[in-house]
Amino acid sequence: MKYAIIIPDGAADSGIEDLANQTPLEAASKPNMDAIALAGRIGTVRTTPPNFSAGSDVCTLCLLGYDPAKYHPGRAPLEAAAMGLKLSADDWVMRCNLVTIVNGIMLDHSAGHIGDREARHLLDSLRKELAPEGGPIEFHAGVSYRHLMVHHGGDFSKVKTTPPHDIPAQPIKGYMPRGPGSDTLLDLMHRGADILSEHDINVVRRQLGEQPATHIWLWGQGRAANVPTFMDQYKKTGAMITAVDLLRGIANLLGWQNIEVPGITSYHDTDYNAQGQYACDALDSYDVVCCHVEAPDEASHQGDYETKVRSIEAIDQFVVGPIYKKLQTFDQWRLLIMPDHATQCATRKHHDAPVPFAMAGTHRKSAIARPYTEKAARESDLHIEKGYELMDYFLSDN
Ligand SMILES: [Zn+2]
Repeated sequence: MKYAIIIPDGAADSGIEDLANQTPLEAASKPNMDAIALAGRIGTVRTTPPNFSAGSDVCTLCLLGYDPAKYHPGRAPLEAAAMGLKLSADDWVMRCNLVTIVNGIMLDHSAGHIGDREARHLLDSLRKELAPEGGPIEFHAGVSYRHLMVHHGGDFSKVKTTPPHDIPAQPIKGYMPRGPGSDTLLDLMHRGADILSEHDINVVRRQLGEQPATHIWLWGQGRAANVPTFMDQYKKTGAMITAVDLLRGIANLLGWQNIEVPGITSYHDTDYNAQGQYACDALDSYDVVCCHVEAPDEASHQGDYETKVRSIEAIDQFVVGPIYKKLQTFDQWRLLIMPDHATQCATRKHHDAPVPFAMAGTHRKSAIARPYTEKAARESDLHIEKGYELMDYFLSDN
């Protein structure tokens, strides 16, 4: 059997006033997603377990059949896996965002989606001052505003940190690292701000009307991950297509192949068509192909519901449509569409409500024949509370 999983990241939402109280999924024209929902099963699945916050790290692990309570090592260790960083047993790794904070307000968790080259220059300057060779600290450059810091030794297990995208346009007071062991991180953040504030790159960014990267924001710390491979757990080979490091990291942990597609990005400027075509080709070689598209989530974080609707429509046309067609050339196949978590344009934040899923293919025939929307999913009779159990239902022979 061939299996495809399509993740329109953050696509689920609540009603939006300017869309006549429809959700972006309801407002979008998405004939392929609707056809799949009409032909197969829809329902809701809780991908954010109790005591976790909704994020692609937790929710994607859960979606792919791994109980976060058992296997989630922290966001940064997942991204370290994506970069192929080798962590030793006493290492801590944490996310190091470049962010824009002005007058104590978190203006932008992405420093205006700063480019890789500018970000690397800033990291070089930070490295010189904060991470001298032979010291306990290393900075590792990632994509755009998403970087990692490794701290050899220390204990950050009791430090509370906050994802910067959870406090958009809010005062940072009360959200800085806190609790035993936080002093080291606070010191680095303060010294980082001194280095960045009048940095040449930021001077230019301000002149161009772009958000300057005023601070580093440390969060999501953890230690090396220990997750059984997908082959061990589910006896299937797999491949991932994504533009996001975090998802590449999860794929690495699961022993999946990451398929790199030229021209794909985290935003609506991504090459949707290339993503769909590469996924179709990958189905010839792997049991499970997972195609993750970040654009709806990023649009939601910008509060941009129009772009969110357009990205859902593009996913439907260029990703879902071709994959649905390709799957039907195999004797036995299944297709699963679901976001990892909801992201609300109104709050610009992730939301931990159960997400709608649609599943079609062999032995997955329609029970209620409704289109793919949050409401139809809620009104179905299929509600999976332990999200990681959905994978068994998706992969089972009957
Ligand atoms: Zn997000």
